[in-house]
Amino acid sequence: MIYKNLAVNAAGHLTFAGYDTVTLAEEYGTPLMLMDETVIRNRCREYRNAMASCLPEGSMPLYASKALSLKRIYEIMREEQMGVDVVSIGELYTAVQAGFPAENAYFHGNSKTDADIRFAMEQGIGHFVCDNVDELNAINAEAARQGIRQKVLLRLTPGIDPHTHEKINTGRIDCKFGAAIETGQAEELVVYALSLPNVELRGYHCHIGSQIFDHAPFCDAAVMMLEFLADIKARHGFSAPVLNLGGGMAVPYTNRDGSISYAVNIRNIGKLIDETCTRLGLEKPAILLEPGRSIVADAGMTVYHVTGTKEIPGFKNYAAVNGGMADNPRYTLYQAEYTVLPASRMEDKADFLCTVAGSCCESGDLLQEDVLLPKPVRGDLLAVLTTGAYNYSMASNYNRIPRPPVVMLTPETHYLAVRRETLQDLLHCDL
Ligand SMILES: *Cc1c(COP(=O)(O)O)cnc(C)c1O
Repeated sequence: MIYKNLAVNAAGHLTFAGYDTVTLAEEYGTPLMLMDETVIRNRCREYRNAMASCLPEGSMPLYASKALSLKRIYEIMREEQMGVDVVSIGELYTAVQAGFPAENAYFHGNSKTDADIRFAMEQGIGHFVCDNVDELNAINAEAARQGIRQKVLLRLTPGIDPHTHEKINTGRIDCKFGAAIETGQAEELVVYALSLPNVELRGYHCHIGSQIFDHAPFCDAAVMMLEFLADIKARHGFSAPVLNLGGGMAVPYTNRDGSISYAVNIRNIGKLIDETCTRLGLEKPAILLEPGRSIVADAGMTVYHVTGTKEIPGFKNYAAVNGGMADNPRYTLYQAEYTVLPASRMEDKADFLCTVAGSCCESGDLLQEDVLLPKPVRGDLLAVLTTGAYNYSMASNYNRIPRPPVVMLTPETHYLAVRRETLQDLLHCDL
């Protein structure tokens, strides 16, 4: 099995975190999102411990909460002493309502409105990760209005393409986020930030991509950013105390994916940061990392009921389930790979090659293609693994489909973190 928290019991049922998925589906209904809380907590600790021992003093992980944003997650992040990233005031509001200290939150995004900035500052947000001059001006003005100096990081693009592991001069530079080091605009942004009386520049941020297994692209980015930091120090006398290297560490979704050790990656990044700071004569900045996917993805699983199969002779077979792009749009969006298991019939021979289709009125509403299963019958359960990140947070009510519940599993018990939406909930905003 791809993860240690999966097994098959005597009834031939898939178990997850020690619980029979068939029993859970009976109790909570389907589609059903399950989260193994132990995996989430252990992953937070792996990041925290590795960063404390291998990175400069003051380094810490921030959970990029767009991966899965609900009150219970922010409670867990507070208990695990993580910082969090938010990218909207909706995420910030959810965090604050869960008792998460806004002081430990970083507000991201390339298009913040005045209302966003005001709300976040009123909540006492710790840092803005500021994208551009217009935003800097708006933050400075609102901070002046509130009589504070607002801490910010600046979002920069170091021009790293994580999938070729090469520094490139274009490509990433033309993305909508941040200011490019290459073009000199990053330096201009720094100089401008330093001139603003109600802005306290704390450092720089970059985020090079997602689902990256290797440590090399992070090392390339770290070196580029440290060289920038040294350059600014030499030219403008400002030595940034914080460097945020973003998120993006991968999670294996199928057996074809490689494996990853977050602790080993962090150790390798730490070694290079030490060497680079020595070479550049820099005091080591505190390092922030922003894992999203790698905190929650493999903690999650979605369980569906099969509604039927279809065989189109000479073409392909389908197995349809009672969910799909409304609860998991990732295959429809970008053909994301998943492992699909026959949760209620794990011991049966898998000889039916099929496409797992969702229930929305879109031919593109598929969950996965070329899946080998025991030929499903109506009422069987299918489990899609690794759905903890960017599933529930991307879920919609398309076709007026209510969102599934999120059930947390611990060694002692299981409980609802989010209840299933009802039909009445769908009318909540209709006047
Ligand atoms: C999405 C995002 C992350 C998290 O990325 P993962 O691949 O989920 O780890 C971190 N930082 C920023 C700025 C992001 O946009």
